[in-house]
Amino acid sequence: MESDTMNRKLMVILGGGESGVGSAILAQKEGFDVFLSDKGTLQDYHRETLQAYGVEFEENGHTEERILQADEIIKSPGIPDTTPLMQKVLQAGIHVISEIEFAGRYTNAKMICITGSNGKTTTTSLIYHILKSAGLHVGLAGNIGKSFARQVAEENYEYFVLELSSFQLEGVYDFRADIAVLLNITPDHLDRYDHTMQNYVDAKMRIIRNQRTEDAFIYWIDDPIITKQIDKLKPLSTCYPFGEHHTTKEVAYTDNGKLIIQAKESEFNMELELLALEGLHNVYNSLASGIVAKLMDISDEQLRTSLSDFKGVPHRLEKVATVRGVQYINDSKATNVNSCWYALQSMRTKTVLILGGTDKGNDYTEIEELTKAKARALIFLGKDNSRLHAFFDGKVPVIRDASSMKEAVEIAYQLAEKGDAVLLSPCCASFDLFKNYEDRGDQFKECVRNL
Ligand code: ADP
Repeated sequence: MESDTMNRKLMVILGGGESGVGSAILAQKEGFDVFLSDKGTLQDYHRETLQAYGVEFEENGHTEERILQADEIIKSPGIPDTTPLMQKVLQAGIHVISEIEFAGRYTNAKMICITGSNGKTTTTSLIYHILKSAGLHVGLAGNIGKSFARQVAEENYEYFVLELSSFQLEGVYDFRADIAVLLNITPDHLDRYDHTMQNYVDAKMRIIRNQRTEDAFIYWIDDPIITKQIDKLKPLSTCYPFGEHHTTKEVAYTDNGKLIIQAKESEFNMELELLALEGLHNVYNSLASGIVAKLMDISDEQLRTSLSDFKGVPHRLEKVATVRGVQYINDSKATNVNSCWYALQSMRTKTVLILGGTDKGNDYTEIEELTKAKARALIFLGKDNSRLHAFFDGKVPVIRDASSMKEAVEIAYQLAEKGDAVLLSPCCASFDLFKNYEDRGDQFKECVRNL
């Protein structure tokens, strides 16, 4: 018994959120000594779970000496390497991994992994919907829903669809995706990457790490950053590029109002009009998802049904209501300029655009042309709208400020004309006036329903 205890390895888990608690449960199941440490206060639900499983943990501070005894550390994706504790951990040479790397060691399920700067949640959810509707025994995890590690500990899925952020990918080493999907790479989170784009790009490209010829790599070929990386890294994976049009290598594309997939011998095609998700960006997401489906031998009929009956994900171009002939659309998740571009691009009518919030150093040039063409008015919703004014004043006929969602929706109601859309697609984070983007979207929906 004693020697058994002495041989046990200490797994320290930093961060007691969904992924940390799930990792603790799996580590305990796999026979590690487990110690979870969080600098802040745990959510009641997480604390109660740890107690129920008898996991040793601390909150509101780190006991460094204990942490530095770890054989290995599982770090929450939210903790940057620059914190004083992480500096000590790295100096001590302790191996640091992510929940994804850890849980990947204890499952033989096939991994379908999705990353990108925009569209991850939508595409992950759509792929999950397609596979689940086809009757596969599949789990949904990663940056979404229930912890991957916990599901590995407690379920027995044959497949996992994983949404992976760049932070989660940073901590993978031996993990291998059977199918990797890379949607796009545009600047985001650069504050965490020394303001160096290449560091962020390198993190994203880890999605194909360890892939072999029999593994699939699905990517957006119209993205110059991705194609440059492919030239540089020369992946072993079998590549399945998708793009808007068929030029050379695309195995999935659009033609004559149809979505076409030629990933397998036979061709799948479907009218774009029948897709559940609207907008060019969602055509891309549907193309990528369709390739996954065909590689997994989902029948054409089943794929067609799932691509047309998918309900979408809240806060992403979510249609809320039509009030007096004006359609209100909640795209609160558009926290960067690129995602707002896609939202505006998909608008078929004049639009009153509500944008603003915590500006992460945005360059609005990307949406200048579309706002000039489509925006009837702009409503700036934020504590400090000066950067928005500096860019847009004089470029759009009507610009108004709002300091609460209620005010923003009321102004939009006054300005919009019959047949218009009112679009909340803020380009910015929400933390100046809201708890998070969900809170911002929920408040928008409530204000619209109260009109
Ligand atoms: P993520 O999980 O990567 O943040 P989401 O699926 O939550 O992405 O979508 C966030 C926003 O990004 C959406 O509101 C939409 O406007 C935009 N978006 C979605 N898919 C794409 C895509 N393929 N390319 C560019 N923008 C997209």
